[in-house]
Amino acid sequence: MRDHNFLIENNTKHLWQPMAHPAEARANPPKIIVGAEGVRITDVHGQSVIDAVGGLWNANLGYSCEPIKRAIADQLQVLPYYSSFRGSMPGPAIELAAKLREWFEPDGLVRVFFTSGGSDSVDTSLKLARQYHKIRGEHGRTKFISFKKGYHGTHWGGASVNGNKNFRHNYEPLLPGCIHIPAPYPYRNPFGETDPARLADLIAAILEDEIAFNGADTIAAFIMEPILGAGGVIPPHPSLMPKIREICDRNGILLIADEIITAFGRTGAWTGSRLWGVQPDMACFAKAITNSYFPFGVVMIAERMVDAFESSDARSANIATGYTYSGHPVGAAAGLATLAETRRLNVPVNAAARGAQLFEGAKALMAKHELIGDVRGGHGLMIGIECVSDRATKTPATGPAMGIVSETTYQNGVMIRVSGPNIILSPPLVISGEDCTAILDALDAGFSAAAALA
Ligand code: PMP
Repeated sequence: MRDHNFLIENNTKHLWQPMAHPAEARANPPKIIVGAEGVRITDVHGQSVIDAVGGLWNANLGYSCEPIKRAIADQLQVLPYYSSFRGSMPGPAIELAAKLREWFEPDGLVRVFFTSGGSDSVDTSLKLARQYHKIRGEHGRTKFISFKKGYHGTHWGGASVNGNKNFRHNYEPLLPGCIHIPAPYPYRNPFGETDPARLADLIAAILEDEIAFNGADTIAAFIMEPILGAGGVIPPHPSLMPKIREICDRNGILLIADEIITAFGRTGAWTGSRLWGVQPDMACFAKAITNSYFPFGVVMIAERMVDAFESSDARSANIATGYTYSGHPVGAAAGLATLAETRRLNVPVNAAARGAQLFEGAKALMAKHELIGDVRGGHGLMIGIECVSDRATKTPATGPAMGIVSETTYQNGVMIRVSGPNIILSPPLVISGEDCTAILDALDAGFSAAAALA
């Protein structure tokens, strides 16, 4: 490892960061993180702060989970890699698949397909959706519907169903036949509807209308996050996902749950779909499946799709997609250890309790700070704080104001994530009550600093 001065001098010199403008990153360099313990991270200057981001929603058990580290180290000694393409299969992948099937049986998910991350999982699920319809002779079902504000990774398929223009415009034209409907976002929507239940009804009606307009026989799947994450934490009304399930069923459309953030306890339930009482046809997982210690992803598939694939001897049922690192033995070993620890610690219980504390605390901050326009959460450790420069007009807060909040919060001992005008809180699910209080105190200081400079 080079000395820390090398890191500081070379920060962003040779490196383009994801989701950042290279020149901006140079002008305002990212924090260099060199260590982590428990729920805290340490930067190159030796400052230790609480990680209220949880890595990127994925270090659910924090950074000191020894059983996972040991499982990775042990697996590296025994079998550091082997391919899972036709003809071979690394042992740990078989074990993890059996465990995942057991875990997700209540969600009706009975087959496992491994990928190497979230974007891979999304694109795989979109491909399998089209393939399912082709196997059944419905060749015209190629389109996808999703939410504006939804986030489904950065590959071409995921970017095409993404509903945030920032992730789309620089890369267009994207996949044709991707339809976007309004998000269940009471704070901002085209109808001015602030009641979540009525908004859910309107969105369901728009979905029906789009299906009728396009023709149900052109649509392969609807893909959604059970709670929209990167879009700023947008939980739908509990009626919406069940309604979407029913509309999909009635029209022969598959429902894909993008559970890349919401699974493994983050919402206070084991999956976001289970939170809303829905069984999807496919679910995408990644992130917390290895507690972030190894890049890994999974698509899980429901019985009705399995029948179509496994009872067909046509070439069309050949799964002609997959990744060099699908089912990586080290990732699978990390996944097995993570599932065991996640279950042992029964993390949804703490996620629900600490999530309620942060949600209530963030609402109290809103009563105090004009910069906060909306606070969203209420389902585990996913909290969104949307900032505005004017509450009456809901004008999004400026970059400089957000910068002051995040820097002051950091100087007060807490790393937060700023995404546009949103602050996202998604700490490890094992976080304590005292650490949540510290997060709220640091944010309070951050908002006060921004107000003082306004
Ligand atoms: N879907 C959702 C809901 C996500 O939050 C993310 C990552 N933030 C992805 C897909 C993409 O995952 P990855 O970055 O691992 O490719």
